[in-house]
Parts: sequence; structure tokens; C-alpha cells
Amino acid sequence: MATRIEFNQHGGPEVLQAVTFTPAAPGEHEIQVENRAIGINYIDTYIRSGLYPPPALPSGLGTEAAGVVVKVGSAVKHIKEGDRVVYAQSALGAYSSVHNVVAEKAAILPNAISFEQAAASFLKGLTVYYLLRKTYEIKPDEPFLFHAAAGGVGLIACQWAKALGAKLIGTVGSAQKAQRALQAGAWQVINYREESVVERVKEITGGKKVRVVYDSVGKDTWESSLDCLQRRGLMVSFGNSSGPVTGVNLGILNQKGSLFATRPSLQGYITTHEELVEASNELFSLIASGVIKVDVAEAQKYPLAEAQRAHEVLESRATQGSSLLIP
Ligand code: NDP
Repeated sequence: MATRIEFNQHGGPEVLQAVTFTPAAPGEHEIQVENRAIGINYIDTYIRSGLYPPPALPSGLGTEAAGVVVKVGSAVKHIKEGDRVVYAQSALGAYSSVHNVVAEKAAILPNAISFEQAAASFLKGLTVYYLLRKTYEIKPDEPFLFHAAAGGVGLIACQWAKALGAKLIGTVGSAQKAQRALQAGAWQVINYREESVVERVKEITGGKKVRVVYDSVGKDTWESSLDCLQRRGLMVSFGNSSGPVTGVNLGILNQKGSLFATRPSLQGYITTHEELVEASNELFSLIASGVIKVDVAEAQKYPLAEAQRAHEVLESRATQGSSLLIP
């Protein structure tokens, strides 16, 4: 028997329940993974709440984990039983002790990277990869704004930006988070509870503002983020932590300086296995060489059955860096 987290109605963390089940055999293109560490991502809360409804209820939850392959479908070529893997896929159900995964969405994990490091960094690190390297190619010495810089995605972005020699200006919601983002490599931090983000961005950049803003907060920051951009700058809106951006009049991009805007998602950048391998190789080499560290605080590692508590803490904005479920 295995254990997984399910929910049969949308709502707060209380709808999450641990249930036991007998895993089905993997399909011909799938592998069965005994999960050792499961990544918790903000998107999991959108799926639970109904902002991004799953195909059907009851539903599993979670898209990312690392573990050992225990069974392999007949058509799978690049992975064998006993391999250590990490995966991030749009199909749900990774909050589970055992999970069947499309093999193309999994990568072999180098020995230098632990299961916990992998589950804490794969989806979030691949996101940083495409944001800073593909959506817009950040240049050395270039200042740019990145919201929620002490979060799971944010702390990896701080470190990656430093590795690129770029100047990440991070927003944070507390003095402790400011310190954590600076330690990770942020060039400047702005505590939005005490300072105006737009005014500070102008001040820091000598009035020039920035060429690109990465905004995962959504509703609360959409308009002020546009005000941080230079003429013809790029707004990358990639999340909804405060709620989705809706009802946008495109004319606002004209009014605020002939701006560009994009709303990307990770799966749009790792659609093919080749894209996944290219992105994960770059991420793994930065982690294995110690350039990017993904140590998860003990208080942010929860037993699988405590997924409710993990969601409560994440949504209360109390976390720094990544959080994990341990089966
Ligand atoms: P985080 O660890 O960053 O947690 C969210 C953080 O957002 C909070 O800690 C908080 O930091 C900040 N925040 C600001 N306003 C709010 C609010 N109203 N409610 C809650 N939090 C708020 O989560 P993740 O690292 O998992 O994800 C970060 C973001 O990136 C999410 O929006 C997620 O959806 C998005 N994402 C998008 C992807 C894509 O491809 N499009 C892929 C992966 C993630 P503070 O206290 O400092 O304000």
C-alpha cells in the first residue's frame, strides 16, 4: 500500500486528506517512482483552491518530486529500475509515496545532488533558468526587478543572477527575508512593507528604472511593476501569489511607455525532452558545483501526511526558500 494526498472539493488547506491506495502499474511510457522528497510549489495552492481547477475531483496534488525508479514501462528507453530521478510534470499526484510519471518529464539525478536538494530546486530552478536565460536574457551588470526574492523561486533567482554577474533588485516582506535575499546574492532589496517599490527602483537605478520586471505576485503588484519599467521594457508576469491579474486594458502598455508583457509558464519552455535535458543540465551543474545552494530549513520539511500544515505556512508568507514533503 502507498499513501497520497487527495482533495475532493476546492477550498483552504483543510480539504487536503491523506489516503492509502494500491499503485497501478506504470503505462508503457511511464516510470514508477518511489518518492523520497516532494517539492511544494505555490501552484499547488492554486490547484487546491480552484484557481487552476484539476481535470476532475477527487484529485491528487503536486507536480514535482525526486526518488528511485521501481518499475519501468515497456516503451521507456532512457531510464531503468534503480535510477535516481527527479521530475516536474503538469499531471497531478506527486504528493504521494509512489507515483507513476511520464518518463519524458523525468531527468536522471547526478549523484552529487541529494533527493531533497533535487525536489527543492527542480521546478523552481528550471523556472529561474527560463526566466533569466530564455524569456529575457539577463546581461552582466544589468539591474532588474524580481518580486518575492526570498521565496523558493526567489532565492534561486538571487543566486543565479549573481552567477550571471547581474544586479537583482529583490522585493521582500520582512527584514529577515531581506537579509536572506542579500546573502543569496541579491544586489539590492526593497522591503515593500516599509518603502515604495517604484520610488526605490528609481533611486537605485539613478532614475533609469529597469529593462525587465519578473512579477509572481500578480494582482497586487501588476501596475506598480509597470511603473518600474523603462520605455519599451518587458513585464514578465509569471504568478498569482496575491491573486490573478485580470481585466487588463492593453492600452496601459502604451500609456506607460510602449511596454511589452508576457505571461509564461515552465511547461511552455520544457515541452520537449531535449529542452528539459538542456535546462536541467545547466541547473544541475550550478547545484553540483555549489554555485546554487538549496538547503531547506528543517522547519520547512513536513511529513507527507502534514500537507495541510505545509500549505497553511506557505500561504501565510512565513516561509523562506523551498519547502518539502517527506513520504
Ligand atoms: P514562494 O516561496 O515565493 O512564496 C510566495 C511568496 O510570495 C511569499 O512568501 C511572499 O513573500 C510573496 N507574496 C507577496 N504577496 C503575497 C500574497 N498576497 N500572498 C502570499 N504570498 C505573497 O513560492 P514559490 O517559490 O513556490 O513560487 C513563487 C511564485 O512563482 C508563485 O507565484 C508561483 O505561482 C510562481 N511560479 C510560476 C511559474 C511559471 O512558470 N509561471 C513556475 C514556478 C513558480 P514576501 O513575504 O517576501 O512578500
